[in-house]
Amino acid sequence: MFIHEMFQQKPCVFSVEVFPPKKAGAAEETLYPVLRELCTLGPDYISVTYGAGGGTAGQSTAKIASYIKNGLHVEALAHLTCVNSTRVQVEETLTRLREDNVENVLALRGDINPDLPRRMDFLHASDLAKAIAQTGGFGVAGACYPEGHVESPSLKADVESLRYKAEAGVSHLITQLFFDNVSYYRFLNMARKAGISLPVQAGIMPIVSKRQIERTVALSSASLPPQFTKMISRYDHDEQALFDAGIEYAVTQIRDLITGGADGIHLYAMNNARVARLVYEGIRDLLPERT
Ligand code: FAD
Repeated sequence: MFIHEMFQQKPCVFSVEVFPPKKAGAAEETLYPVLRELCTLGPDYISVTYGAGGGTAGQSTAKIASYIKNGLHVEALAHLTCVNSTRVQVEETLTRLREDNVENVLALRGDINPDLPRRMDFLHASDLAKAIAQTGGFGVAGACYPEGHVESPSLKADVESLRYKAEAGVSHLITQLFFDNVSYYRFLNMARKAGISLPVQAGIMPIVSKRQIERTVALSSASLPPQFTKMISRYDHDEQALFDAGIEYAVTQIRDLITGGADGIHLYAMNNARVARLVYEGIRDLLPERT
């Protein structure tokens, strides 16, 4: 099933994201128990990230997406970046996905890394989205940035650039993580005013450890509202209290988004099924009944 069709059937689509283990090969299978546990939450789909570097990165993504689709019978969304991939490599990945009956692809440019060879076959995510849409047989999703993409001169310019994605055949958007719902609502208003009518899923990452704050939050460039920074400083030296507060923060954020009419919630679960379950339990009464 194409993911964009789910938005016509449900008031709020709920999905979870995982990433392939660093080592390829048998290591991918270490993720399978996590995926099985995530499936008990009844997600509408599970997405699998694409490692930086292009080349063989897609093989892990495709293998895991295939397991989700064919082993667990849940819809899978395979991420695909083009910044370090040639057209031929992209076509190979698409062929593999098609063979495995993975019907949904998140078309991304990827971050520019000066240490990796930049490929110029597709300059922007919209160029990749267009190629995937032209290939046919895939639902195409795209990324968006409630606080603007770091390379954009302004949020307005970044929102305007979403038109390229929509015109290229992207049929639903997933946001970058954010901690302040005001930024999501402001972005959504701007997008609707700019004529972008695609469903927008809010991307939420529960922050449950100091390590995550140092790594993920620092890298994401998401702004941190006072209630978030207060939570961090209050529980800085108490691991369990920080964990509990992080879950509660994500639950509060998501409950507000669902009651505020968000098209969907995409949980950046960081391969942690326990965290995903705790968040899910805090929001399940607001989600459409799971099958
Ligand atoms: P683009 O849409 O190409 O945008 C990049 C910049 O160019 C933006 O500033 C945009 O405003 C501008 N722009 C876009 N089109 C045009 C145009 N036609 N003309 C001029 N300017 C334009 N990275 C990974 O490596 N692997 C992943 O699995 C992954 N998953 C992600 C999932 C989500 C939901 C999100 C939000 C991000 C993800 N990323 C991933 C990170 C993403 O690849 C980076 O944020 C990257 O820097 C931009 O990707 P993009 O697809 O948004 O690029």
